[in-house]
Amino acid sequence: MINIPFNKPYLHGRELVYIADAVRSGKISGDGIFTKKCHSYFESKFGFRKALLTTSCTDALEMAAILLDIKHGDEVILPSFTFVSTANAFILRGAKLVFADSCDDNPNISPAAIEELITPNTKAIVVVHYAGVACDMDRIASIARRYGVAIVEDAAQAVDSYFNGAPLGSIGTFGAFSFHETKNIISGEGGMLVVNNEKYINRAEIIREKGTNRSSFFRGEVDKYGWVDIGSSFLPSELVAAYLFAQLENLEVIQSRRKVIWDTYNNGLRSLADDGCFELPHIPSWATNNAHMFYLVCRSLEERGNLIAFLKSKGIHAVFHYIALHTSQFFLPHSDSRALPNCDRYTNCLVRLPIYYELLDDEVGRVIETIHEFFAKKK
Ligand SMILES: *Cc1c(COP(=O)(O)O)cnc(C)c1O
Repeated sequence: MINIPFNKPYLHGRELVYIADAVRSGKISGDGIFTKKCHSYFESKFGFRKALLTTSCTDALEMAAILLDIKHGDEVILPSFTFVSTANAFILRGAKLVFADSCDDNPNISPAAIEELITPNTKAIVVVHYAGVACDMDRIASIARRYGVAIVEDAAQAVDSYFNGAPLGSIGTFGAFSFHETKNIISGEGGMLVVNNEKYINRAEIIREKGTNRSSFFRGEVDKYGWVDIGSSFLPSELVAAYLFAQLENLEVIQSRRKVIWDTYNNGLRSLADDGCFELPHIPSWATNNAHMFYLVCRSLEERGNLIAFLKSKGIHAVFHYIALHTSQFFLPHSDSRALPNCDRYTNCLVRLPIYYELLDDEVGRVIETIHEFFAKKK
């Protein structure tokens, strides 16, 4: 029986109060009071030029692809070691996906790999701040500037994390966040598009509102609203925004508890890493750690499988991800067969340990001890 799950959604308490407030206010569709509170929170705390809640990070990425006018034949460079939405958003617009390898000391996209893949058709570089740890944004931004290519930050895992002091999601043309229940700050399903370039704001509002200028209409900027562009329904209901706002009010508490858990794992497992049993997460000097994820990189696929099975036999649910997209069933027929050895290694060897707000110190201790027990048997 599993008694330490991999993840557990966290309810602080005000969530249900705010949902009730939203219901009583008489407006539960989108862009009401709680959506505005969330937008203001993000814009003032992180200095985002424009924050727009969406129903998912997937939606936010799709909006970014539409806003960049990605068309058939445009090339988009992205990591292969990521969630499918990073890729789907762009292939839905007809882009050619060009997968880049990860770094050898962490799963983030390698700037050197990006530079080799730039062609005259490259339209965008999509970076994923894996585990909430910043990619090397100085190098990537300088490549993007040199070739006149846009950057989209998939910051799904990166709320309240920074690159040399700059909040993740504020560096590229667009940042996309997720509030899925597996992330640090949650609303069940939920997401946000951050627009960092003034010139895209108006169109972003239109695309989010089914291609209509409804947002300008409600601000009194136009006297009637209608269909002016392509678009979809990307905005969440007030019920989602109400839940999210309660979480945001507790951001500091949530983040600091997650960091304590993360540090406990890191200290408790260091001796095994020193013995060469696995690698611990590497946090580059420019990056902060928002404790989204604690992972180990095992020595082999087989050993990882055995470790997961051993933990499971002791009631602990550890998981692996991602099947690198360049090796996926969907992409293989389109593949140019380039080898991405670092991605393959993370696909085969990375394992994620339980981490969530309510995980108790005792339980973290039990996970650490169980991992020691597994490797003691192997000596
Ligand atoms: C979670 C995640 C997504 C998708 O987020 P949703 O809100 O579920 O659409 C996209 N990219 C990355 C890197 C993620 O971790």
